Amino acid sequence: MKPAAFEYVRPGSLNEALQALSRHAGNAKILAGGQSLVPMMNLRMLHPAVIIDINRVPGLDAIRTDGDALVVGALARHSTLRDSPIVAKHCPLMREAYRYVAHKPIRNRGTLGGNISHADPASEMPAVLVATDATIVVKSAKGERKIAAANFFIGLMQTALQTGEMVTEIRIPIAPANQGWAFEEAANRKGDFAMAAIGATLTLTGGVCSQAAVAVAGMSDRATRLSALEALLERKPLDDDLIMRAAVLAKSSVKPDSSYHADVDFKRDLAEALTERALKNARARCK
Ligand SMILES: Cc1cc2nc3c(=O)[nH]c(=O)nc-3n(C[C@H](O)[C@H](O)[C@H](O)COP(=O)(O)OP(=O)(O)OC[C@H]3O[C@@H](n4cnc5c(N)ncnc54)[C@H](O)[C@@H]3O)c2cc1C
Repeated sequence: MKPAAFEYVRPGSLNEALQALSRHAGNAKILAGGQSLVPMMNLRMLHPAVIIDINRVPGLDAIRTDGDALVVGALARHSTLRDSPIVAKHCPLMREAYRYVAHKPIRNRGTLGGNISHADPASEMPAVLVATDATIVVKSAKGERKIAAANFFIGLMQTALQTGEMVTEIRIPIAPANQGWAFEEAANRKGDFAMAAIGATLTLTGGVCSQAAVAVAGMSDRATRLSALEALLERKPLDDDLIMRAAVLAKSSVKPDSSYHADVDFKRDLAEALTERALKNARARCK
């Protein structure tokens, strides 16, 4: 399969990219790693008139810290993030979730900005960003907006990005040193998108849960937090009994869609089993 004809634009700076997006508003698509865009164009599910290739925009792949945030440029590749000591130190949940993302050739090209802009509900990174209260920074020729991850993913492959906007960076609060984390997933085959995935962070103060964040992916049209479960955990001793109650609550809280690989009942069972595993592993890592 081949894509429909398109005009190719390769900006050499962020400003040129934003001007090109503004000029071709509504008719252009950004090309990052191409791992989702190109197959969709080849299948003629998308036929943009203009492709804006941001791969030569300098600095857009930077990974750095800024005050209390880990800052990831939109063009940072999955492989780089997976191997980054800065990510391992400041967002261990992301590092763990990358164990489940795709296959090496795809990770070598795919980018975090492209991944979240594509907004596949079974993707791991949206769950990580929702669980960590990350902020998505988007720019257009008119200026900049900062969008909480929870508000960025608004539906099946739909984001809060408006015409003429692009993701430039992702800001993730630096994980406290005493926080535990875990990312657990079930997929049909290694490297496939998640049938179900749970990402969790926990903080214990004297054995009592003083902070809990639990996000689920692969269950509905977007990654979401399980806020009732978080409320159940907080301010209570985090023993096995409480974790089991939380896992049962996860099973009844999720609203999965049936898919070719897993029906609704199976997905609910997965939510329960993965939540138990994630909470126990996160608890074991609390300092
Ligand atoms: C076989 C296969 C298996 C995969 N398995 C997984 C998996 O297990 N988990 C997973 O999470 N992903 C998986 N992926 C997807 C992979 O992570 C892609 O890298 C990702 O979905 C898209 O990133 P990209 O950089 O390639 O984006 P592209 O394909 O270049 O772009 C994707 C979309 O985002 C837009 N876009 C790109 N960058 C920006 C930006 N900075 N601002 C605004 N819009 C932008 C594009 O216009 C396009 O609409 C898989 C892909 C394949 C082909």
